Amino acid sequence: MRKWVCALLAVLVLCLSGCAEAHTKKTLFAMDTIMELQVWGAESEEAVQQLSQMITETENTWSSQKADSLVARLNRRETVDHPLLQQLVTLYARTNGAFDPLLGGAMEAWGFRSKAYTVPTQEQLKAGLQAQLWDLGGAVKGYTGTLAVQCLEELDVDRAILNLGGNIQTYGQKPDGAPWTIAIQNPDGGEYLGMLSVVGTKAVVTSGDYQRYFEKDGVRYHHILNPETGMPAQTGLHAVTVICEDGLTADVLSTALFVMGLEEAKTLWRYSMDFEAVFVTDTGKIYATAGAALSGCEYEVIQR
Ligand code: AMP
Ligand code: MG
Repeated sequence: MRKWVCALLAVLVLCLSGCAEAHTKKTLFAMDTIMELQVWGAESEEAVQQLSQMITETENTWSSQKADSLVARLNRRETVDHPLLQQLVTLYARTNGAFDPLLGGAMEAWGFRSKAYTVPTQEQLKAGLQAQLWDLGGAVKGYTGTLAVQCLEELDVDRAILNLGGNIQTYGQKPDGAPWTIAIQNPDGGEYLGMLSVVGTKAVVTSGDYQRYFEKDGVRYHHILNPETGMPAQTGLHAVTVICEDGLTADVLSTALFVMGLEEAKTLWRYSMDFEAVFVTDTGKIYATAGAALSGCEYEVIQR
């Protein structure tokens, strides 16, 4: 009898270890940044392979640097038909033009494309804005998150967390139903600013003046531009994090809210039901909308 119990236990242990959840992790360099993919579930390996392929394809399709990308074709004034373009037009209107996908000429004038940084003259900036060149640097990583979720939904995958160059995309639930915990980077470096808890499938995207910039004669010029002037947006914000189910929307909104400044951003949030946000001002004060589950730091809650 004891032998039988032992045998049964052994089978159970074997079964449990055999049934351990598959987990696949991969780090890759794409879109000029480091990405980390982690997927759990029966088809995790297949998922990571498909995700890597999708990321390469998305980069090739939307990069400003590749001669045969759709962005390059748009900038050659060729006719391009893609559902993303209609979504961008809708988001341009929703943000009252604060997110403007036609700032490629202005980005070029500052040298942000070539990395040959320079302070342009007013005439050069004006010409850059008038050129109306496409640049989707403020949206492509988030859009990649949207496409990643579509890819994961088609596979036998339990959950995933993707770091797409600082844009975090979660997918599915942890087994214990616990939320995902995501650290928000401190714009001034060092320790993390705080922790965000998110449940299920969410995109967490940060835009900030510390992410890409150069200094000339003691002045710092960053990469998020005011579409009206072509100058780096100066609205008293240092960083904006957006939490939203859709990656593209999160990415577009994080850039747009940064350009709008705190007051206009609060108004947009009050008229929206699909996102939460955390703001860090130039003076280091932190604000979070009422639905953002932020911890580990002092902050003021923005109420509806
Ligand atoms: P993000 O880091 O998502 O805020 O995106 C910043 C990038 O978006 C820049 O490097 C530019 O490529 C582009 N960009 C800059 N200013 C804007 C703007 N006002 N609207 C849309 N894209 C912008
Ligand atoms: Mg963005």
